[in-house]
Amino acid sequence: MEEDIKSIIEQFVDYLLPELTPYETSLYLYLLRNSFIKNGAGEIRVGKRTIAIGYGKGSRGEKTNYAHVSKILRMLEEKGCIKVGDANRDGTLYIVSLPKDILLVAEKIASLLPQDTEEDYFNDPEKRREIFERDKWICQYCGEKVSPENATLDHFIPQSKGGKHTKENIRTCCLICNGIKSGKTYEEAAPFLLKSIQERKTRSHK
Ligand SMILES: [Zn+2]
Repeated sequence: MEEDIKSIIEQFVDYLLPELTPYETSLYLYLLRNSFIKNGAGEIRVGKRTIAIGYGKGSRGEKTNYAHVSKILRMLEEKGCIKVGDANRDGTLYIVSLPKDILLVAEKIASLLPQDTEEDYFNDPEKRREIFERDKWICQYCGEKVSPENATLDHFIPQSKGGKHTKENIRTCCLICNGIKSGKTYEEAAPFLLKSIQERKTRSHK
């Protein structure tokens, strides 16, 4: 549990805090304190009056009013930090999301994951060679033999469409095919590749 709280706080400070206003921050922390941190459950049923008391007074000491609390709760719900459930005489049910389960945070964490350098088959010279060997120094589009002098690597799914430097996405390619395929998906490039292959065949038969 301590380890959990440590990572909750880290994820909160690193990823969620920049997205929240100070009011939203204190209300979210109040709800988190009384759900996960209190009893490990993601739910809390509480009345707005209790929230207003627990949540404290404004910086100038004025009383926190219900309308204000309601507005902040709505903002937290819009940002995916909480879900507001049913209300009964014991209060309203709030389902509190942990930072890592909030879409805003999950997206940030995913986008910040380092590109696995182990998996960089495009820039790492040794890994490039591994691909050429795997493909037996043959262009994967036209079937021509390539040499260490003119061999290139192509992203099967182009980088512009999210293709990564992974083993699966990197293919041996001759200069001509790479010039044609560059930036295109295979479907987009296929007619041009085919045309070029036919032209090259005709020329070599002359
Ligand atoms: Zn080729």
